[in-house]
Amino acid sequence: MDLHLYNTLTRQQERFVPAQPDRVTMYVCGPTVYNYPHIGNARPYTLFGVLAKLLRDQFGNLSYARNITDVDDKINAAASERGVPIDVVTGQFTEAFLDDMTAIGNVGDFAPNIEPRATAHIPGIVRMCERLIASGHAYVAEGHVLFSVDTYEGYGRLSRRTVKEMIAGARVDVAPYKRNPADFVLWKPSTPDLPGWASPWGRGRPGWHIECSAMAEEHLGNTIDIHAGGADLKFPHHENEIAQSVCAHGGAEFANLWMHNGFVTIEGRKMSKSLGNVLLIKELRTLAPPEALRYLLLNAHYRQPLDWSEAGLKQAKTTLDRLYSALRDLADVDASAQPASADAVKAALADDLGTPQALAALSELSRDAQKAQGPAAKALAKSRLLAAGEWLGLLQQDPQAWFQTGGASVDVARIEALMAERQEARQRRDFARADQIRNEFTALGVTIEDTPQGARWKLL
Ligand code: AMP
Ligand code: ZN
Repeated sequence: MDLHLYNTLTRQQERFVPAQPDRVTMYVCGPTVYNYPHIGNARPYTLFGVLAKLLRDQFGNLSYARNITDVDDKINAAASERGVPIDVVTGQFTEAFLDDMTAIGNVGDFAPNIEPRATAHIPGIVRMCERLIASGHAYVAEGHVLFSVDTYEGYGRLSRRTVKEMIAGARVDVAPYKRNPADFVLWKPSTPDLPGWASPWGRGRPGWHIECSAMAEEHLGNTIDIHAGGADLKFPHHENEIAQSVCAHGGAEFANLWMHNGFVTIEGRKMSKSLGNVLLIKELRTLAPPEALRYLLLNAHYRQPLDWSEAGLKQAKTTLDRLYSALRDLADVDASAQPASADAVKAALADDLGTPQALAALSELSRDAQKAQGPAAKALAKSRLLAAGEWLGLLQQDPQAWFQTGGASVDVARIEALMAERQEARQRRDFARADQIRNEFTALGVTIEDTPQGARWKLL
């Protein structure tokens, strides 16, 4: 099956052909870890995670890198505001980010297999700066290393802006030591209270853009197949990554295909920390099952904006209820007897990552499952529905557990084990132990009901 993807660089949809047939490379700019991630931050990693699974399936071998930016002025500011060391901030928010990614289902085939941290790549960053200076693309001024945009004629080809527009649009820092106001920092001096590393230009720290160029080089090589991130990164971040990498590699293309996701918005405005309109994933997780967050993220095409609303989230949960209900009705059907593929879902994804179309196909399959008659047809329908869900990271929970927990993540295995133990205790007439177990249920956030059909548990 051919895979077609829209390339921001050429502004058109292209058939994707990896540079090397046996190894596809993809780099997605990761988070700067100074705060809890909001639902907008989850959009690139969820969408491009679905792409990662598709690439792994199509080409067998994918090297997918998603970095952690753990040195940055925003991190320094957060640490000094709280009066804690920098690594307390980066440690806490790296963990929070990974925890949210796991909850939303960006794990396994959907997850990167390379997760480099910027601070572990300082020697590579310094070497890249040295190469850029040696080839005349960068210069040293007052302890800074700056990239000279006038030395790279391709500057602006991703965002299609002139240098003049870029200076006006990005409110660039017009420092007196810059040859051109659009020149950007590769390395800057650090004061003793800030993170810093020894370098030929004194103790300093890297600029944000060079971190990604150096990590991509080390883990994926000079030219990568796909580079992705949110649309806000096109300029200056990706434009600068291209300039640095192309110039450090003697003119070799940095990324053949660029992909950018649209924004998660709230009432039409971009969700962002600076606007103060963010919905944190950790808070949304208390309002809805993480799978509903995932469903909603997949329900808009990645290049379109996604306006987040409570009603949308409720709708996503209701749709998942319907899908899980189709599976619950087939609980006794053995689907393993009828292995099936999910061609409609795969075809939708292969057409520029059409996740809304893939979800429509999933719903169609659930309707087929509800209509299926006879054991063979039922087994096939169930198998198809499960296979389709697998492509999207949906419908992989036990349907009974989905309804019992409302999709919340509770330890179902532990609850089931306690249920069995309680049953046994009652048979032994050990009521003291049975009562004790009831208290343990309360601690797990569930309650037990004894019905004529036996004991049942539900969330408190
Ligand atoms: P940051 O940690 O700010 O660098 O953001 C991490 C990722 O989230 C980047 O790929 C951003 O482009 C992306 N991003 C930030 N805000 C939004 C948003 N409101 N909608 C979609 N993506 C976003
Ligand atoms: Zn980057």
